[in-house]
Amino acid sequence: MEIITTVGELRDALEPGRLAGRTIGFVPTMGFLHEGHLSLIRESVTQSDVTVVSIFVNPTQFGPREDLDSYPRDAAGDARLCQDAGVDVLFMPTVEEVYPPGNRTGVEPGPLAEPLCGSFRPGHFRGVATVVAKLFNMVQPHRAWFGRKDYQQALVIQRMVRDLHVPVEVIALPTIREADGLAVSSRNAHLSPEARSRAACLSRGLFAALDAFRRGERDSERLLAIARAYLGETDSIQYLELVHAETLERIAGTVDAPAVMCTAAFIGGTRLIDNVLLSGSSDA
Ligand code: AMP
Repeated sequence: MEIITTVGELRDALEPGRLAGRTIGFVPTMGFLHEGHLSLIRESVTQSDVTVVSIFVNPTQFGPREDLDSYPRDAAGDARLCQDAGVDVLFMPTVEEVYPPGNRTGVEPGPLAEPLCGSFRPGHFRGVATVVAKLFNMVQPHRAWFGRKDYQQALVIQRMVRDLHVPVEVIALPTIREADGLAVSSRNAHLSPEARSRAACLSRGLFAALDAFRRGERDSERLLAIARAYLGETDSIQYLELVHAETLERIAGTVDAPAVMCTAAFIGGTRLIDNVLLSGSSDA
């Protein structure tokens, strides 16, 4: 595995394979890798000739009062995990490499970026869409893997790729969870043992609503109430919403379209997000 920090070296490393017709798979991350990241990486390694993983804690997707400075990092541990997973290139650029001096251009993601996390984190998805567009241009992968854990993010990126005719196939994979249901996340490292045990209430609430949905409940308010009953264990709920799975528009009344229930909440000072697709299949 090569560890690369500049765009020039990255191009030099990938060009021979590209010219030889090898497929390039890409998994962008912010590091502190866990089983969620590894599920995407393993899929890329299986499906691609060459796999590139990026680790870049992107400052433009953090708000002024958010956790950029305290975001967990472990470059050496991440490199070991990537090596063991069969990654070919680990790309770890500096902020200056990604945002050269005078950098001004950005990607405006449009209406999919407005509800849910977008309404509580102004500018977040502009930062995400911009950095992913930059990374796609640097790596020029054939396919890129994202997690449905960040459901809105995956939709924003899929929309961006369509709107800007970016020649990358974006694939979203299911959320990897701990044994008690908590969605695996780098930020879980911030949870005290006490907060960690409460944190499973998010997935418990969402899966209780999914259970009710599968038993035939279709009233959006009743489904939300079922989930909300579990969220009392959080310190505060930022949002709990039932939205259309493709447009992210709020569903009021009867759920008669593909839907996803999404939540963001604070537990022990850490902001956690989770979601569940309301579908009959077990692939939630
Ligand atoms: P992050 O490093 O948190 O920016 O995440 C990098 C990628 O990993 C994103 O596409 C996330 O959606 C994905 N990811 C993070 N956590 C999980 C998880 N628990 N299951 C599946 N994918 C995940």
